[in-house]
Amino acid sequence: MSKKPGLTVLAGPTAVGKGTVSTYIRDNYPEVWLSVSATTRAPRPGEVDGVHYFFKSTEEFERLIAEGELLEWAVVHGQNTYGTLKSTVNEAIEEGRSVLLEIDLQGARQVKEAVPDAKFVFLAPPTWDEMVRRLVGRGTETPEEQQRRLETAKLELAAEPEFDHTVINDDVRRAADELVSLMGLTPHAHLQEPSAR
Ligand code: 5GP
Repeated sequence: MSKKPGLTVLAGPTAVGKGTVSTYIRDNYPEVWLSVSATTRAPRPGEVDGVHYFFKSTEEFERLIAEGELLEWAVVHGQNTYGTLKSTVNEAIEEGRSVLLEIDLQGARQVKEAVPDAKFVFLAPPTWDEMVRRLVGRGTETPEEQQRRLETAKLELAAEPEFDHTVINDDVRRAADELVSLMGLTPHAHLQEPSAR
């Protein structure tokens, strides 16, 4: 297994729990440098500018695109625009950090074009029903928005073969640990707990 740090892209269908896995990594794996994306979406309660996203106006986001500041960007669910800032990611890679991007599938495809030797990890739901339950359970979107996201998710599930590895999100901690080991880092000792019980 390669120990060389570099760029890892985590993508997967809507509501598979990418955000939960990346939050777990942010809280538990300071050795991973998690990219903070720019977005035109309004902050949800509890979201902090510069921590969860850089919240931008449409005009500010358009300027980032025009000035070539983004490694990738995409309109997600036909609504808001999200993108990865090139400068911060490049700096972190140059510093030898293990960099993780949690982005949508369209963005992952752009990174594959720009950085073909990055590692591409697909986060998959244990089952379709579980994914629907998670999406509806979040309760932050309207029924129309939920339906739109489910339709996107079906298309996104079909993209799994484009990725180097698949991680099943059956348990957030386990999935995060598997992702971290795919990144060439050492997962924390709690990995041993289930078999010790
Ligand atoms: P949310 O609005 O729920 O935070 O995120 C919606 C979707 O946007 C998620 O699928 C997430 O992976 C994606 N996303 C977040 N940041 C980026 C980014 O920088 N680029 C792309 N392409 N997608 C992103």
